[in-house]
Amino acid sequence: MSGRARAGAAVKADGYGTGARGTVRILAEAGCNDFLVAHWREAEEIADLVDPATISVLHGPLSAADAAWAKATGVRPVINSLAQARLWLQIGGGACDLMIDTGINRLGLPLAALGDELIGRLKVDVLHSHLAAAEEDSPLNEVQRLRWDAARTAVRHARASLANSAGIMLGAAYHGDLTRPGLALYGGVPCEGLAPHIQPVVRPEAAVLQLREIRAGDSVGYNATFTATGPMRVGVIALGYADGYLRCWSGAGSVHFGGQRLPVLGRVSMDMTVIDLANAPDLREGDWVTIDYFLPEAAAASGLSQYELLTLLGRRFER
Ligand SMILES: *Cc1c(COP(=O)(O)O)cnc(C)c1O
Repeated sequence: MSGRARAGAAVKADGYGTGARGTVRILAEAGCNDFLVAHWREAEEIADLVDPATISVLHGPLSAADAAWAKATGVRPVINSLAQARLWLQIGGGACDLMIDTGINRLGLPLAALGDELIGRLKVDVLHSHLAAAEEDSPLNEVQRLRWDAARTAVRHARASLANSAGIMLGAAYHGDLTRPGLALYGGVPCEGLAPHIQPVVRPEAAVLQLREIRAGDSVGYNATFTATGPMRVGVIALGYADGYLRCWSGAGSVHFGGQRLPVLGRVSMDMTVIDLANAPDLREGDWVTIDYFLPEAAAASGLSQYELLTLLGRRFER
């Protein structure tokens, strides 16, 4: 869908919670040749899997040590300010990326600084900017694209990049030479147009620790927020807010077993959640259930964003 542009991959935040090492291997095998992380530690975690020169660090160098490590390994810093440009040039420079701010007012060089002589001395591989509202039909998209276009003529660079997942849907004018999808690679659907093209890849599962029978009037979990109105068979699963299954799912989430939906009863606690087994007479202790976590629906049901749903998933999940 990136047309003539190459598709890179945002693999920051441990591959959006999917496990960066496994994810980078799969993406590299699929032909991905550009990987974006936020932190230097995240680059270090994957630097042995791919050519380090294909990794860019979005936060850029914060110290001479960051710059020195980039210089030594070939990992590319994304330069976001004149101060970062100075750090990078002081250590000897070399291939880097440059992030310019075209309207998100987050990280990136202000347009007014594009003509600075420090920027003229950079060896820019990818000239980046980042869209603030790509998933919306916002006039800001075109404003940002035009500013990015102007920057492309102002700064020498090898490749230009603007689009995140939703930005890819805005069309060829937004593609440049490289796109930077993240969310969509992990089954997230940022906008309607992408829905037919994206399938879920994250399906959290949890083990059933214990079954129990409760009677009318019995309550379930902390603060007794659920009370049975008749006899029920319930199950305790090994899943809680320490796993990123937040308390917003209390009395609201559900899991699946044998094609049947089993609702969450009462409060989600740190390591456990209780489910209603009325629809799963065959379920046994030690069985595994699949958490209902289809991202667009889960986001609507929980009030969390699809990004949060992915990056929340805790370290106790085996990827
Ligand atoms: C995280 C990030 C992306 C990926 O965005 P998605 O919305 O997840 O596709 C792209 N570019 C930059 C600069 C980012 O920080």
